[in-house]
Amino acid sequence: MQKHGKMKRKKMKKPGKENRKGANYIFITGGMSGLGKGLVTASTAKILQSLGFNVTVIKIDPYLNVDAGTMSPFEHGEVFVTSDGYESDQDLGVYERFLNKNLTRDHNITTGRIFWQVLQKERAGKYLGKTVQPIPHITNEIKGEIKKVVDEENADFVVVEIGGTVGDIENALFLEAIRQLAFTEKVKFIHVVYIPELILKEQKTKMAQHSVKRLREVGIEPDFLIARTAKPLTEEARKKLSLFCNVKLSNVISSHDISDIYRLPLLFLEQDYDILLLREFGLPEQKANLSSWKRAIERKENAKKTINIGIVGKYSKLRDSYISIEQAFKHCEYALGLHINLEWIDAEKIENGFLLNNLSLNGILVPGGFGERGAEGKIKAIRYARENGIPFLGLCLGFQLAAIEFARNVCGLKDATSAEFTKKSKNFVIDVMGDQEVLLREKKYGATMRLGAYPCRVKKGTLAFKAYGKEQISERHRHRYEINNEYRDILESKGMVFSGINPERDLVEIAELKDHPFFMGTQFHPELKSRPLRPHPLFCEFIKAAIRKR
Ligand code: GLN
Repeated sequence: MQKHGKMKRKKMKKPGKENRKGANYIFITGGMSGLGKGLVTASTAKILQSLGFNVTVIKIDPYLNVDAGTMSPFEHGEVFVTSDGYESDQDLGVYERFLNKNLTRDHNITTGRIFWQVLQKERAGKYLGKTVQPIPHITNEIKGEIKKVVDEENADFVVVEIGGTVGDIENALFLEAIRQLAFTEKVKFIHVVYIPELILKEQKTKMAQHSVKRLREVGIEPDFLIARTAKPLTEEARKKLSLFCNVKLSNVISSHDISDIYRLPLLFLEQDYDILLLREFGLPEQKANLSSWKRAIERKENAKKTINIGIVGKYSKLRDSYISIEQAFKHCEYALGLHINLEWIDAEKIENGFLLNNLSLNGILVPGGFGERGAEGKIKAIRYARENGIPFLGLCLGFQLAAIEFARNVCGLKDATSAEFTKKSKNFVIDVMGDQEVLLREKKYGATMRLGAYPCRVKKGTLAFKAYGKEQISERHRHRYEINNEYRDILESKGMVFSGINPERDLVEIAELKDHPFFMGTQFHPELKSRPLRPHPLFCEFIKAAIRKR
């Protein structure tokens, strides 16, 4: 209560951050793993963005790895690379594609990074003699990292996905941090639950109820439930979820199986998720418009043409490690109105004699990768594409192997290879650069590759220039090895064209062949920048060439 008498004069607030109306926070948790929380996060953010808000997103990963750079794709799927050179979980790629927005390292918070930062502060004496504890020091660090993103971007909304499952020891500190945030900020919680359909074809809600119970045990009450089911959520199940989980009936949203992940925001809009979200935050209600998004999806769905693209890789059994490539093709389907059938071909199968002419391929892509396994099979596939005029796109390792294949079979350097594969050769057409050699020798593997966006100058009159339509481009990298400049003359003299060069260090970024319908390799990863309504020009040119090959 205000005391009577002389009132203290309030300090005038400076305009700026403090005087902003304040951001709205949305936290997305899950009752199980593999429910597509990343897609729910991206779709929620997409809807708010299309309503005209400045929306940002954050992925919280409860693992101790500082970033995803050292994780095996077998275990963790694709490592996504942001333009600032951060190696993240693949969800950042999902967000970038949905929001058509570049994210940075700040948008991924891992337990490893948080602990690392707190321990560094402790060593630097920043806590002034205090006992440093999980609560409040770790939780404050988490809250600080989330707020930093909001403030730097002046965001109206931040949508934060909490990785892992509610009830895990691992994400307990994150749940505690967001519970505290709800005390001081405008926060809504969205919980994604799994609704199985058992033998009697009845949707069972018990599991979902239990996960909500666990959430409530840590002081979090969900404002929305997103029910992941095979079939649309029945009214009966919706009512049960609402009653037992204490969530408004209208705020129980069905997230049943759909034909295309990009349809998820549309499915949510059908259930008035836009209006319901705005209502929860007390904002003026309006309907979102995603009509161009919808038209793009329909262009693919109504298409008649189909082409076959072979993807020759090492991890062919694990499609998760090629998510961005798969998505880049999907975006071409949207733009060009066709179906692209992807044939996943294990490179080792080719080594063991499998012949590619058994498949009617309109194009071949060799993706990035690490290590020697499967390399000879990929080289065979590249040779087959080169000699038979089949459109070819080589990405990173795929590009390096294309240079090796050309050096061996066209330039006559029979032992041409990469320093990544062997120490014994006279012709390292692919080699490490100076600084990388030191890092490798010292076994410094975390975040030490050539990472993130670098500029590239595209040569006029080339296939690459035709695709990009401009000279200055910037693309994202993740590699240690490069084309060895000592071999450029011989490769060029036999018809290889270096159509993209990094101007600062004179490195080859794009190579192509003259007398071929479409043969191109890139040291960078174009797939990382492809977006649903902005497909990558190189993928589009590749697909157009593949259509002509039909
Ligand atoms: N292994 C290769 C290198 O390190 C290629 C990496 C990649 O394909 N991303 O240079």
